[in-house]
Amino acid sequence: MRALVLSDIHANLDALDAVLASAPEHDTVWDLGDVVGYGANPNEVIERVRDLGKVFVRGNHDRACCGLESLLDFNPIAASAARWTRTTLTSEHIVWLRQLSEGPVLSDGPDVSCVHGSVLDEDQYVMTLRDAWLPLKESQTRITFFGHTHVQGGFASNEEEWFKLEPRYHGGNEPEEYELPLRNGLRYLLNPGAVGQPRDHDWRAAYALYDGDRKTVTFHRVPYDLKMAQQRILRAGLPDRLASRLREGR
Ligand code: ZN
Repeated sequence: MRALVLSDIHANLDALDAVLASAPEHDTVWDLGDVVGYGANPNEVIERVRDLGKVFVRGNHDRACCGLESLLDFNPIAASAARWTRTTLTSEHIVWLRQLSEGPVLSDGPDVSCVHGSVLDEDQYVMTLRDAWLPLKESQTRITFFGHTHVQGGFASNEEEWFKLEPRYHGGNEPEEYELPLRNGLRYLLNPGAVGQPRDHDWRAAYALYDGDRKTVTFHRVPYDLKMAQQRILRAGLPDRLASRLREGR
């Protein structure tokens, strides 16, 4: 079975469309949260993703944008985008966001679970091997997909050895992929990266493809209509910084 793994779309319709148009054949889609927040097309993005698969995990922006959580923990730019999103979302889409599950959600793949932050805390940022140690140990499954950091890659361990996994790319403006073979005996925490707002210094939309038969995860980067996404943000009256950071990939 092959699953397209998406995270942190952040209402970036142009990035999502580029990912869906270029994604290899797959049986299902696993979504790791933050479907909305920051970008200018929350309704259109929800329309696209809600029928794609059955596995959805909620993100902190999803909670904030549907009023499940206060904006007190958000920085001023994120809070302003969340307020804009709240008033822009249709009531049907607010209801859809409110029913999303807190992770971990067991996927329809064998021994794979999905979370937004980590298995211990949906809001945890897993950035370093030190952050990854406990979530890797405590996960019920051998493979856990996570998002939230907007950094593609992940971590693996067999208790003796520890690995930080970083896809190697040439960079630039072409699509690229990086295949990771899943080794027996290792436990994995894997982040497909952010579709809609990458923060690993690569502006291209990020996603991953899990192949349970071949025992691989392939990381992908795909260019998208960045200028259009930026224009939509500016036209919507969202903070300028949300447009400029897309080009910087941070
Ligand atoms: Zn996010």
